Amino acid sequence: MAPILEVRDVTRRFGGFTAVNRCSLTVEQGGITGLIGPNGAGKSTLFNMVAGNLAPSSGQILFEGREIQGLKPHQLFDRGLLRTFQIAHEFSHLSVIENLMMVPGGQPGENLLEAWFRGRTVREFEVQVRERAQDVIDFLKIGHVAHELAGNLSGGQKKLVELARTMMVDAKIVLLDEIAAGVNRTLLNDIAANIERLNRERGYTFFVIEHDMDLIGRLCDPVIVMAAGEVMRTGTLAEIQADEAVVEAYFGG
Ligand code: ADP
Ligand code: MG
Repeated sequence: MAPILEVRDVTRRFGGFTAVNRCSLTVEQGGITGLIGPNGAGKSTLFNMVAGNLAPSSGQILFEGREIQGLKPHQLFDRGLLRTFQIAHEFSHLSVIENLMMVPGGQPGENLLEAWFRGRTVREFEVQVRERAQDVIDFLKIGHVAHELAGNLSGGQKKLVELARTMMVDAKIVLLDEIAAGVNRTLLNDIAANIERLNRERGYTFFVIEHDMDLIGRLCDPVIVMAAGEVMRTGTLAEIQADEAVVEAYFGG
């Protein structure tokens, strides 16, 4: 089967510094692919290029077989390629359900416009968006915080809301950049279980940057290792942990 995402010989320079150097990798449809590597390896820079936040200096990125390098995040979002983002400061005074309702179209004004052009009344559109938000809340079992202000949530609960936001549109692939960072074990289990359910029950493909090896081991196959801007190795976590060059570069030798 063709990969859903393919990075072909992609390089990104910042001035004279090469953060990502001729990287090639594939992400298979329907899987959960991990991306690991030491700090500064170029993982986030690679994600930024895939999600449209940064243009590659050279190389191609293909999503569902079509070149996407240089497209803007909202164009990729419309095609179902999403990355999670921290809840923006302006949204911290809105409740969780309101945060979810802001997602389709991105802006309240755009929602109204979209509703108008689709020939539905604004009221009908709002009812639909609210129903979808409620479905997402039920799926993720976060009903107890639905009316809490986003700014009052714990770090882990915010991560769950970030994941929830991706469910407001029909995502095909979701990029997660260190979703476990600073999250307690209980919530981390909830997040991992929800990633597994989204993968199994909703057909989401995930591409996951993570430092937490327990989480990588539980969720990800295959795992891609980056070091110093380059792809070093791809394999199962067990294969990677048995590779001396990888152990040296990442696990500290
Ligand atoms: P990782 O996510 O693997 O920790 P990053 O992709 O964030 O690594 O960074 C890779 C390297 O690129 C680092 O040395 C970082 O300092 C550098 N870098 C990242 N973004 C920029 C930028 N906007 N300008 C200059 N250097 C950058
Ligand atoms: Mg990073």
